[in-house]
Amino acid sequence: MTTLKAVRGTRDLLPSETALWNRIEATARAVFARYNFGEIRTPIFEDTALFSRSVGEETDIVSKEMYTWEDRARAQSEKTQSLTLRPENTAGVVRAYIEHQLGETGLLQKLFYIGPQFRRERPQKGRYRQFSQIGAEVIGPPSAGSESPLRDAEVLEMLATFLDELGITGWILELNSVGSAADRARYNEVLRTALDLVVSGMCADCQRRAVTNPLRVLDCKVPADQPIIATLPVIADSLDEASRVHFAAVTAALDAAGVPYTLNHRLVRGLDYYTRTTFEFTHGGLGAQNALLGGGRYDGLSEAIGGPKAPGIGFAMGEDRLVLTLAALNQGAAPPQVDAFIAPLGESLNPAALTLARELRRAGLRIELGEGSFRLKKSFEAADKTARNIVILGEDELQSGILTVKTFATGAQTKVPRPELAVFLKQ
Ligand code: AMP
Repeated sequence: MTTLKAVRGTRDLLPSETALWNRIEATARAVFARYNFGEIRTPIFEDTALFSRSVGEETDIVSKEMYTWEDRARAQSEKTQSLTLRPENTAGVVRAYIEHQLGETGLLQKLFYIGPQFRRERPQKGRYRQFSQIGAEVIGPPSAGSESPLRDAEVLEMLATFLDELGITGWILELNSVGSAADRARYNEVLRTALDLVVSGMCADCQRRAVTNPLRVLDCKVPADQPIIATLPVIADSLDEASRVHFAAVTAALDAAGVPYTLNHRLVRGLDYYTRTTFEFTHGGLGAQNALLGGGRYDGLSEAIGGPKAPGIGFAMGEDRLVLTLAALNQGAAPPQVDAFIAPLGESLNPAALTLARELRRAGLRIELGEGSFRLKKSFEAADKTARNIVILGEDELQSGILTVKTFATGAQTKVPRPELAVFLKQ
């Protein structure tokens, strides 16, 4: 029989890895809480139309990377429905915002999420078919100030703080504005005209994009196309006054707060719903897939999926990429060591060993429980691999209440009265 393995592009995270994942998630929760974000959890599958209407039919994600299936009706009252594993979470959050009429509160909604996303991509380092994103959205009616450039700057400043607190040094914030929907339409025409002259020398994807969605040409990674792309008009020249003023206010607030950034005219991002500010944080330690996180403003998204006017801005970061970056910076978590390994001398002492372990664990210690059938040598070997101390529990120790503890770092052997054991092992 062939052995079964995790599906290509998916993988298991073992305890040696999840320690770091948990640290990343705990840092995100702690930092986001200080900015008054609350957690939202949306389903991992949604109606396919949600993604085609928001992310966009012409994007790589929707056109070729979604896991979609026809969910057959099981009863006459049910309809067959096209469902999709979420490839990203902004669409789901905005759907929930509309469905639960969160705009009716008149307040800005600050929502964050942590969870798996699914894209049928070609797997490589830092790119998986199931990957986890941490993201957040700030969304609300215009009367709540959701359009303000201050919101953009605050989100970017929060991300800078998060990466700093996580210990990721050397990040680069790349910033651009893709303007309003009208600016983008204008720029698309300018680009289309410019591309007419040069596109025949470009890759097949660019030739297709030049017709369907010229903006996407700027995302092209084919090396031979880069010199041609460098000569194309930039979007900054197609922005109207309002978009220009908005972007200038974002950068002015970042300058004031001391958050460094670089302007990148080509940063249009792969999703259709972005308007005005777009950004990515990149890191050199990641190699080809160098984006730690990306995001931007999406002022028309709610309306595009049938909701009220609800401008917003958000981001998503790949947890896998944060892990890889921390590993490259040697910030990976050290394997946790338990405080003590309890070695019962003989199977008859197993129940007493469980009782002692219970006492110590309730006192907050991390304890590994040995097994009375082990020879003492075997217990020492197991303990040496995982624990700072070994506690020997024989008949004498049980009767006298004085336990023998060996501390591996010093080699010291100490007799400790049972009531003092927890304090001793915590040192
Ligand atoms: P996107 O939704 O494409 O803007 O992606 C946002 C972030 O999610 C990226 O910057 C990556 O960190 C991460 N990401 C996107 N796709 C993948 C993937 N296939 N595997 C791992 N991380 C990913």
